[in-house]
Amino acid sequence: RGDPVNEHVADSHNVIRVQGARENNLKNVSLEIPKRRLTVFTGVSGSGKSSLVFGTIAAESQRMINETYSAFLQGFMPSLSRPEVDRLEGLTTAIIVDQERLGANPRSTLGTATDANALLRILFSSLGTPHIGGPQAYAFNVPSASGSGAVTVQKGNKIAEKATFHVTGGMCPRCEGMGVVNDIDLTEIFDENLAITEGAIKVPGYTADGWYVKLFANAGFFDASKPIKTFNKRQLHDFLYKEPVKVKMEGANMTYEGLIPKIQKSMLSKDKDAMQPHIRRFVERAVTFQTCPDCAGTRLAEGARNSTINGVSIADACAMQLTDLAEWIRGLDEPAYAPLLESLSASLDAFVNIGLGYLSLDRPAGTLSGGEAQRTKLIRHLGSALTDVTYVFDEPTIGLHPHDIQRMNELLLQLRDKGNTVLVVEHKPETIAIADHVVDLGPLAGTKGGEITFTGTVAELRESDTLTGKHFSYRAMLKDTVRKPSGNIEIRGANTHNLQDVDVDIPLGVLCVVTGVAGSGKSSLVAGSMPKDEVIYIDQSAIRGSRRSNPATYTGVLDPIRKAFAKANGVKPALFSSNSEGACPTCKGIGMIFTELGFMATVSSVCDECGGKRFQASVLEYKLGGLDISEVLSLSVSEARALFSQGEAKTPAAAKVLGQLEDVGLGYLSLGQPLSTLSGGERQRIKLATHLGEKGGVYVLDEPTTGLHLADVENLLALLDRLVDAGKSVIVIEHHQAVMAHADWIIDLGPGAGSAGGRVVYEGTPRALVSNLSTLTGTHLAQYVS
Ligand code: ADP
Ligand code: ADP
Ligand code: ZN
Ligand code: ZN
Repeated sequence: RGDPVNEHVADSHNVIRVQGARENNLKNVSLEIPKRRLTVFTGVSGSGKSSLVFGTIAAESQRMINETYSAFLQGFMPSLSRPEVDRLEGLTTAIIVDQERLGANPRSTLGTATDANALLRILFSSLGTPHIGGPQAYAFNVPSASGSGAVTVQKGNKIAEKATFHVTGGMCPRCEGMGVVNDIDLTEIFDENLAITEGAIKVPGYTADGWYVKLFANAGFFDASKPIKTFNKRQLHDFLYKEPVKVKMEGANMTYEGLIPKIQKSMLSKDKDAMQPHIRRFVERAVTFQTCPDCAGTRLAEGARNSTINGVSIADACAMQLTDLAEWIRGLDEPAYAPLLESLSASLDAFVNIGLGYLSLDRPAGTLSGGEAQRTKLIRHLGSALTDVTYVFDEPTIGLHPHDIQRMNELLLQLRDKGNTVLVVEHKPETIAIADHVVDLGPLAGTKGGEITFTGTVAELRESDTLTGKHFSYRAMLKDTVRKPSGNIEIRGANTHNLQDVDVDIPLGVLCVVTGVAGSGKSSLVAGSMPKDEVIYIDQSAIRGSRRSNPATYTGVLDPIRKAFAKANGVKPALFSSNSEGACPTCKGIGMIFTELGFMATVSSVCDECGGKRFQASVLEYKLGGLDISEVLSLSVSEARALFSQGEAKTPAAAKVLGQLEDVGLGYLSLGQPLSTLSGGERQRIKLATHLGEKGGVYVLDEPTTGLHLADVENLLALLDRLVDAGKSVIVIEHHQAVMAHADWIIDLGPGAGSAGGRVVYEGTPRALVSNLSTLTGTHLAQYVS
């Protein structure tokens, strides 16, 4: 294969052409990207890779898809704003395969998130005995408008009629397919000494003058002005449990329903992480969850649980490790069902090939890590019949041991070879190496980046004068001396998840790196087995908070800034808070308007009233150092640090926190950038920044190099060294070999994943690890160090 761009540039059908892109920090860039090829986008963190690939190319593709909806549907959607770009040509449908967690629906599992469960259901409805009905009789995640999950099941033969009569699919009727049942503490949901109109209901959203309480008061089932303790049995039942009934209120038809089913549907059918914070707090206080006693957590109705193939039920199959399930399927000798068995094997092999063979289909989708979620989404597309699609990946090698990257590379090439355009944002040299075409952004981050510094082949990249090119053939040095531990955390008999009675000492006062293939048990060891109170976990999970949250609010730097604004202008600090009277009343200080669409993802658009500035015009009159508060929020961390370090706006408290953000490599972030737009790696580093000022402590970091260019990794290592030298203990789960090479101590788990892992296969210095090639990690690291 020659240089794909030069080969195809002449033919505009074969390139995506971007002209004048200016999204975020992009400096009016123009480029051509070959179609049906694998293009890798490189550059330091904050250089503008996501702004180009996700913010411009994928965003425009999705906007154009939205425009194909009927005028009726479009009436419900605010128009998405067009990305800042002069011209885009040659786009095809973009499918984003990112690290967002899967499914807020608690019924969603790994199996339901892919086609594996659907295929298994067909298998059991064909071969299971006793035969209980069609595939639907094995389904527990039946979507339904009413929320109760009831579906009408096709009647099969005479066995089947009885078993499936009025059955809600194959869903366990007790827990409605959740696998857990909840017990609601009545004293937490109402105060029996009060009347409903006096505010007896303690559930969020049920204020005494609110809409729901009005409905309760007008339904006519009880007297809402009397204390609840005076209700008779019938009235109490109607208050708490009544089935939905139509009632008339102020001339309108309304549905009345008891408080408990109402809470179940509106609050408990959501995943906890998807709840608004005040609702989550209420749920944690009022509701206890336990495994469903009827289905033992299998989510399935009795018929579906008892129907088996060779003694294995569908629940057993879903609980098997995928490598074992694949073997079991291969062992079924049913020539009549060969095509079905082949599809199922192909689907399971895809999981195994991508390094997820240690998972099981019943794993709740919400518990998958970002990297596991991304690989699961990739599997959904491998089987897809679509071609000429643009697939967009965000660091697909996250969470993968060097040993597994090879397999991920093969899958990316497989997608390309089906005739798709594959765009990948990636830092790992192993994946850059397979690119047909490389686009490098830089030279640095934020305003110092946003330019295309290189396009061409990998061979040309190596020779180029770019940071990426220079680091491409980088080999790490092993340290001559390592630090001596100041003590140990002794772990004895750890058996969380797959750990096999692990005894290990985790050294304190040093940089300790925990390694091993995905699923070997690294997180189970450090998150599941260490004493909780001594350890500060700094992970990549979403940061809870409102849509107003941004680096300025999260780190607390906004407080000194508000005070400085107030002092300089002789007004109240509260005016400069985006949840106060100074905020734009239309968007309530968010700068964006969000529209929830039942049938699609929520869409956002810039607030018309304030133009995204978040504040009322009168507040923007007040200046500090020549800037208004909205302008300050749009500064990058580094720019703001310069502003608050000296001169008229000097504010040492603000400069200190901003310095900590620079220390973790986030100098390019803008102060007002919504936290929801940060990547997992950026979230982790912002959490780390807020802990930097603390004394003592054991820090646990999970793949802190996520999102980092090798040039950034060097800065991260320097920061980790400073932490350790200041007396902290740092434990890092990592696949990045530069970090392994830099460790004082390595604990390697393995040898394989899931049940084939869970043991400590090496503990010692990196130098001894590479001199003993008995471990996968040692073999790979040996090739990487000089
Ligand atoms: P990369 O993907 O190379 O890490 P990004 O495209 O995410 O870089 O970021 C490029 C620049 O744009 C950074 O300065 C970043 O802070 C800024 N940026 C990214 N997303 C947003 C956003 N939603 N709002 C404001 N600034 C943003
Ligand atoms: P690593 O961190 O090395 O990738 P993990 O500790 O996440 O490995 O996983 C080790 C084993 O524990 C795997 O078999 C995985 O499926 C299992 N496991 C991890 N988390 C959970 C969970 N929340 N529920 C059930 N099994 C889990
Ligand atoms: Zn159940
Ligand atoms: Zn507004």
